[in-house]
Amino acid sequence: MLASARMPTPQPICPVCDSVTSRTFVAVRDMITYKCRSCDTVYLFPPPTQETVDALYTDAYAGASTGYFTKVEKKLRRSRGRMRRLRAFVGSGRFLDIGCNGGFMVHAAQQLGFDPFGIDLDPISIAYAKTHYPDCHFSITPVEQFATTAEPFDLVYCSEVIEHVPAPRAFAAAIARLAKPGGYLYITTPDISHWRVPTDVTQWDAFGPPSHCVYFNPASLANLLKGAGFTVVKKMIAFKPGIKLLCRKIAP
Ligand SMILES: [Zn+2]
Repeated sequence: MLASARMPTPQPICPVCDSVTSRTFVAVRDMITYKCRSCDTVYLFPPPTQETVDALYTDAYAGASTGYFTKVEKKLRRSRGRMRRLRAFVGSGRFLDIGCNGGFMVHAAQQLGFDPFGIDLDPISIAYAKTHYPDCHFSITPVEQFATTAEPFDLVYCSEVIEHVPAPRAFAAAIARLAKPGGYLYITTPDISHWRVPTDVTQWDAFGPPSHCVYFNPASLANLLKGAGFTVVKKMIAFKPGIKLLCRKIAP
């Protein structure tokens, strides 16, 4: 006990802008979130370990797998609508869904003429996707690893994933490696600055550390992506507290 008492308390550091200036945002059980005074990102500190993240994925899907893959027709319909809107910007080409779950967007992309790929960390999701959409490409690979071998894509899609990532800058850099110069990224994440977020943030359905460990606002997400080499070309309107950005990779 004495030894741990002498350990220096690690200083919270913003995973988006590296600022060490923050204020305590809210504590949930033994977890403390901080709000960066520089970019207003809210983050869990210390960030979850890889072991925690892995366990969360396994638990989340082990419990939800039977329920998650119900309402498939509805999911596919929604995916097709989203893909049609994206196709209006992108045209066609290679498509990658990072965090593809059961492969619904990947399948929709294929139906609209894209060459479709999906990656996810959850084996149950990938097994489902491979079984139901055998003409698409799926793999259980972390994005950073996938980025070292994959050919770049015309459109990278990453919906409701980055809020789970303890090191979002490395994640964004990997996404940038996966996009062709001039290629597109469509990314969504909860918006903690949205006027509809409850005053008691613990009542917000998107607030859930340690699973959600980084909470962006539109400017902090745009800055993160800018640092990785993207420029925002369109902000989609979100009625729920969410950020939806269509970005383009700046040609080097
Ligand atoms: Zn910051």
